[in-house]
Amino acid sequence: MIPAASVPLQPSGWQQAWRDAIRDPGELLSVLGLAGLVDASDAACAAFPLRVPRGFVARMRHGDPHDPLLRQVLPLDEELRPAPGFSLDAVGDAGAVAGHGVLHKYHGRALLVATGSCAVHCRYCFRRHFPYAEQTAAAGHWAAALDAIRADASIHEVILSGGDPLSLATPRLEALTTPLARIGHVRRLRVHTRLPVVLPERVDDALLAWLSSLPWPVAIVVHANHAREFDVHVDAAMARLRATGATLLNQAVLLRGVNDSLEAQAELHERSFAAGVLPYYLHQLDRVAGAAHFEVPDAQARRLHGQLRTRLPGYLLPRLVREVAGDASKRPL
Ligand SMILES: *Cc1c(COP(=O)(O)O)cnc(C)c1O
Ligand code: SF4
Repeated sequence: MIPAASVPLQPSGWQQAWRDAIRDPGELLSVLGLAGLVDASDAACAAFPLRVPRGFVARMRHGDPHDPLLRQVLPLDEELRPAPGFSLDAVGDAGAVAGHGVLHKYHGRALLVATGSCAVHCRYCFRRHFPYAEQTAAAGHWAAALDAIRADASIHEVILSGGDPLSLATPRLEALTTPLARIGHVRRLRVHTRLPVVLPERVDDALLAWLSSLPWPVAIVVHANHAREFDVHVDAAMARLRATGATLLNQAVLLRGVNDSLEAQAELHERSFAAGVLPYYLHQLDRVAGAAHFEVPDAQARRLHGQLRTRLPGYLLPRLVREVAGDASKRPL
């Protein structure tokens, strides 16, 4: 879904690329030479629509039904199988809403659900059932969200999240950060986004000008799960982001059939470092309904992380964590 207000009459390059995303599973499979070989699930697609930018599809291997990028976006019947322990609000978001679109779970940090829109729909998404319509700060509720942040002097870091906050047009981001800059106790800004990876066109001059104008140190956490998500366009986007002075970090989700091998993990962190991005978290999957087939058991996750420690320099080892509702931080495994 694209909120109408975020789309100007003359779409810029990235907005055109956004709109050109593939939304039809049949088209995706035929572009990849997989028509008739793989069954996409209409029912899963109806519950959570397919959406994937063409530039990301171009990085998938032609004719490979097990491609790790394809697996992240293709709706499958497995999503509809009931799985005990997998629920609609896996990380307790409903209990942490401190204002319109503001989630306050951890000391000093408030997360703003800036929009429900994403350029790509990830099948494992922990917010695939999130009530964005009620809880999105962008839907005319900036004032209430800002009030909630202003009222709590313990909040030193504001995290723009979503959905994908960079799916908002740049003037809307400015309209958020301008009043935020007047709140004295905010010292840092963080942006969690998959756009520089899945739609590197988004990193345009206007976005860079906005980032450069911000009065705080900025951390940008990109979400890449596999080394092959990087290509020359992504490298260029990361270089431009870094040139604004932002710190670039990567957060990945451990996903069965995508990145649950030592090779895949080592390559991911080496490749992202080559693009100027340091690993941050490797998340155990949030137990959200529809994603059970991606789960890697904890024992295997720990073993894999232990092996990774012997393979990579310390600075390329992500922290293996899980989000547990009610905890005061992400929980190390
Ligand atoms: C994950 C998360 C954060 C950020 O946690 P860090 O450990 O600082 O990365 C902040 N707020 C909410 C609600 C979160 O879910
Ligand atoms: S980009 Fe993030 S929020 Fe959007 S569907 Fe993917 S995992 Fe979910």
